[in-house]
Amino acid sequence: MVAKPKLPYRFAADAERKAESLRQELGLEPHEPLCAFRLCEHLNIKVVVAEQVEGLSPDSLLVLDHPSGKGWSAVTIPFHSAEQSSHLIIHNRAHSSARQQSNVMHEVAHILRRHELSAIDTGNGLPDYMRLYPEEQEMEADCLGWTLLLPRPALLMALGKGWDRGAIMQHYNVSAEMVRLRLNRTGVLRQLSYRR
Ligand SMILES: [Zn+2]
Repeated sequence: MVAKPKLPYRFAADAERKAESLRQELGLEPHEPLCAFRLCEHLNIKVVVAEQVEGLSPDSLLVLDHPSGKGWSAVTIPFHSAEQSSHLIIHNRAHSSARQQSNVMHEVAHILRRHELSAIDTGNGLPDYMRLYPEEQEMEADCLGWTLLLPRPALLMALGKGWDRGAIMQHYNVSAEMVRLRLNRTGVLRQLSYRR
């Protein structure tokens, strides 16, 4: 039996620290919302929607299609020039604003973790970069992406103020699913009930 991949030791705690240090670089308090697009600008990551990419044919977009049926989310393409190596994130603007935040943040997390992509030539001009990350790296990108959007101090602040989930969703531009996930994973509800 193959063991299910696990996050590296202390990964969640490191993600929290990253969420805080990136906010600090942007002059934000640890509990303040962090916009994925603003973070990309700060990190010098170019973000575009598929329609902006020249030569991206409807066929290429099919390559980006996601089996979930909800349509593809976002894809990262590394590029290297003489001066720098950087990344381009192509994202799907058909999704809700909250979903776009989480899609882009997931890609940022891959980049921050220096996950390497190996491209396969699909024969239609666009290399198929999708789903070539190993499952461990997908877990890392999920955990770090979610944490960047909704770190512990944000949840503690919101709960401390008595905000309901709707208010958290609105303030941090995140989905209901994201709020549920983060409340469960961080154990903040338990932490607060001990304190009371
Ligand atoms: Zn991923």
